[in-house]
Amino acid sequence: CLISIVDISKPRYVRVNTLKLDLKSALQELGKQNKVHEDDMVPDLLVLPPGVDLHNHPLVLNGSVFMQGKASSMAAAALQPEPGWEVLDACAAPGNKTVHLAALTHGKGKILACELHKERVQRLKETITLAGAANVEVLNEDFLNLNPKHTSYSKVRAILLDPSCSGSGTSAVRLDHLLPSHGAGNDDAGINRLIKLQAFQKKALAHALSFPAVERLVYSTCSVHQIENEDVIKSVLPLALSLGFQLATPFPLWARRGLPVVEGSEHLLRTDPAEDKEGFFIALFVRKSTIAENRP
Ligand code: SAM
Repeated sequence: CLISIVDISKPRYVRVNTLKLDLKSALQELGKQNKVHEDDMVPDLLVLPPGVDLHNHPLVLNGSVFMQGKASSMAAAALQPEPGWEVLDACAAPGNKTVHLAALTHGKGKILACELHKERVQRLKETITLAGAANVEVLNEDFLNLNPKHTSYSKVRAILLDPSCSGSGTSAVRLDHLLPSHGAGNDDAGINRLIKLQAFQKKALAHALSFPAVERLVYSTCSVHQIENEDVIKSVLPLALSLGFQLATPFPLWARRGLPVVEGSEHLLRTDPAEDKEGFFIALFVRKSTIAENRP
């Protein structure tokens, strides 16, 4: 049951790094050699024809644009951090979404980029340098060990949690045959891996919800599996509600929403590997600001 999802008929996307280049100039530069237009939903995302190879384009090499798919660009955009906010990127390397957050906050405020694995921290730092993102602080830590009550995190108003996942939405081979709901369920190693990933994803999401000043939280994966997506949301939803969070609807005009296995699934966002080139999942939690209420 191996289904290829590589589709060269789909457009190419680049995200303009507005820390280095404005949208108009990027359109002009890229338009010299290719047809290019703005995406209709995701700000600062440009659409180019299928098959265009930009790996060696000067704007890519100098960090003015990032080759980032539409679905993965939606995660930081859904978080909508405001300039001046402190934002925590809980699982940050290689840093594509970290530098997107830096651009969305216009380089103002602070992005805390947390990454467990030392060897991946190096790659994260390279991405940050390439993007010219000066307001990012890198933490080589286990996100689960960050103490939400510590004063270092008392002003964190938004968290992006893009944890390790199976990557089943981006690999060339679908893993659906590993899931019990898809019949076979006879690959114990595959199932065990998904169960382990889910255990971490649930723990990390519950941990993220416990940061006291957080008012917007995005949970995202590049997995197509319910077990890593809707099931994770379902398990933390009672905790989220008890802490004053609600599910909100990122990109309301986007048609593909969550599987109807959890209350509020219509708020969840899915992209489809075949239709949208990448299989992605986004959940957005919001709660009323406590910081604003405490202002004199
Ligand atoms: N958001 C990144 C991006 O868009 O470039 C991709 C993140 S990747 C899906 C997940 C990352 O989380 C990996 O780099 C992994 O090493 C890191 N990670 C895994 N467990 C972690 C933990 N307990 N604390 C912090 N980072 C962790």
